[in-house]
Amino acid sequence: MKQTEILAVGAGPAGLTAGMYAARSGHKAIILEKSFAGGQMALTSEVENYPGFSEPVGGMLLAQTMEQQATRFGCEMLNAEATGIATTAAGFEVATTAGPVSTAAVVVCSGVKPKELGAPGETELTGRGVSYCAVCDGPLFKGKEVAVIGGGDSALDEALYLSNIVARVHVIHRRDEFRACKFAQQRLRERSNIDYHLSCLVQSFDGTQRLAGLTVKNLKDGSNYSLPVAGAFVYVGWLPNTGWCSNLLELDDSGNIKTDDRLRTNVPGIFAAGDVRNTHLRQVATAVGDGALAAMSAHDFLIGKR
Ligand SMILES: Cc1cc2nc3c(=O)[nH]c(=O)nc-3n(C[C@H](O)[C@H](O)[C@H](O)COP(=O)(O)OP(=O)(O)OC[C@H]3O[C@@H](n4cnc5c(N)ncnc54)[C@H](O)[C@@H]3O)c2cc1C
Repeated sequence: MKQTEILAVGAGPAGLTAGMYAARSGHKAIILEKSFAGGQMALTSEVENYPGFSEPVGGMLLAQTMEQQATRFGCEMLNAEATGIATTAAGFEVATTAGPVSTAAVVVCSGVKPKELGAPGETELTGRGVSYCAVCDGPLFKGKEVAVIGGGDSALDEALYLSNIVARVHVIHRRDEFRACKFAQQRLRERSNIDYHLSCLVQSFDGTQRLAGLTVKNLKDGSNYSLPVAGAFVYVGWLPNTGWCSNLLELDDSGNIKTDDRLRTNVPGIFAAGDVRNTHLRQVATAVGDGALAAMSAHDFLIGKR
């Protein structure tokens, strides 16, 4: 069985930082990742609010650099999915798709996945016009009209990205003003190919083989109208990836892992960092800070056990 001292689950910015700090502190460290390094950050076209870069930096480039930095200190990358966790005499056994991993401490950095809007047609048309990732799928809609659903920073950032590729972007938001920061709103308003549908709800995703359009309800006058778009990008919130560890860990009402100020969970030896925990800000900068703190708390835990 594979053995380590500190296992970070998830290679987003939180996990990559935790792995780097753990290895640099002299521990045998593994970062487990089910898909590719970088997590949501790698799917972000441009990150312009991560300190240290005066110009926007590509999310994928930032991910690759963080991975190189972690492995430079001896941290091992393991491409597999965590499917369960149990306590053992030595600490924990994490079940993965590449076999079990035995570890003395765990840093849970498994992040979040996009929340579905829940309107009819969404599930059937996902991958056929409905998407949750503008960077991945935006280029498929070159020259076409698309919708972005949501009003937070992610929605507006990705609407801006899409406006460089597609003919027209329709931003649909259920409230009459956006939650996103004023700077993002200002930049969006400078674009001539973005239309706004405020106080509007998507009632259904329409089409058979592929998305043909949306039925939209205007909440102010109660009317419904059709919006013919080839693509719809949904940014309406996130769900923590805790299915593999929720048997042991205490979660809050929204399913986030509860942590204290040292990022300890209710189980001694398990720590949580980044978007997966109960935090007030979900950003690269906060995930990185969490990863560092959680790894050092894991280090203190291991020293205390010796
Ligand atoms: C479209 C978009 C734009 C954004 N723009 C910005 C921005 O401009 N600036 C900014 O600061 N932040 C931005 N963010 C937010 C930022 O990307 C996240 O806050 C940050 O990536 C969270 O890092 P994390 O490591 O906690 O989790 P994540 O990035 O979610 O990484 C979690 C990782 O864990 C892996 N994983 C999950 N479950 C398992 C499992 N069971 N086994 C193994 N691996 C698993 C996932 O595959 C993923 O790689 C944006 C997010 C999105 C979606």
